[in-house]
Amino acid sequence: MFTHRLVFPASVLRGRGAVKHLGAVCGRLGQRALLVGGIRGIESVEARVADQMEQQMVSYLGHEVFNGECCQEEIARLAEVFRVQGVEVIVATGGGKALDTAKAAGVACNLPVVTLPSIAGTCSAVTSLSFRYHQDGQFRDMFPLTYGPAAAVIDADILAQAPLNWLSAGIGDTLAKWYEYRAISDMNALSGLSGVARTNSELCFTLIEHFAADACLAVEQGKANAALEQVLDAIFLYAGLTSIMSNGAHTGAAHALYEGFTACSKTRHFPHGLLVGYGNLCLLALENRSDEELHSALALARASAIPTQLDHLAEGITEQDLADIIDRSLSAPDMANMPFEVDFAAMQAAIERVNSLSQTLI
Ligand SMILES: [Zn+2]
Repeated sequence: MFTHRLVFPASVLRGRGAVKHLGAVCGRLGQRALLVGGIRGIESVEARVADQMEQQMVSYLGHEVFNGECCQEEIARLAEVFRVQGVEVIVATGGGKALDTAKAAGVACNLPVVTLPSIAGTCSAVTSLSFRYHQDGQFRDMFPLTYGPAAAVIDADILAQAPLNWLSAGIGDTLAKWYEYRAISDMNALSGLSGVARTNSELCFTLIEHFAADACLAVEQGKANAALEQVLDAIFLYAGLTSIMSNGAHTGAAHALYEGFTACSKTRHFPHGLLVGYGNLCLLALENRSDEELHSALALARASAIPTQLDHLAEGITEQDLADIIDRSLSAPDMANMPFEVDFAAMQAAIERVNSLSQTLI
């Protein structure tokens, strides 16, 4: 019998100023706290983290910089740092890769991890999954962790200060929840789990459709507003719940195309959510959706600063690069979830259709 395992974060604190609860949360988990993340993430939160620990009399051990790739070598290195320093609670900041690495390293040492995302690129802050890569940046696997974050602290004031690119990436990945769910699921199936996944995915789309433009404006101005809070809830809570409810299984052609892009050195280091956001458009084209529907999806992508054409992703993608990208996407496990056969010609035609419709959009 297949056992469905749902792993939630133990608590979630969201909204403006949520970081002011960080010290109390950590104090209940351990007395020696280490901050882990990328350099930009650490810079944007360290003063507040140190202050929070001091207020609760938790020893702040300083920070450890994540080396940039969520690979097994880096997970093992961080785990060793935690052991050597006698860390009792980990505060993980940054984006998906930094959080995924810190979560996996924390689990390897049986330590509680509190996530404090500094960018809204993915829902990694709430999930018990790590997307592992090889050292050269090529995708390796989706690594399930035995437990989820002890707490996720989603502070809209911190996230309003991040570069817009990352909010756009989060929006792209979150829109995929609905586009891919709709593409690969039996919409008539009646079960509680599929109902929750469907409702959450559709809610993600509706919130983004209404609030994405104003949320992007908030980030451009570096000041949180109500629209940003709604979009952050979509990215972290509702998309996160969909991932948890579906064990990450609701992925299709948009994520397969993302995996294809990791095969090409020109596109590999582009944020996951922006590549998925572009992949969503190709998914809609693959499904033969109408020009009208594609136009509104393109307009929403553009309002969210998501790339809508190949040349927005990288200059000088050659025919051979594109062939490699498509080939890799066709062999990606996510593509096997599609309810119809996708071949090279179909994927190529979908990309061309998105490109030409995007060029007609003013
Ligand atoms: Zn994704």
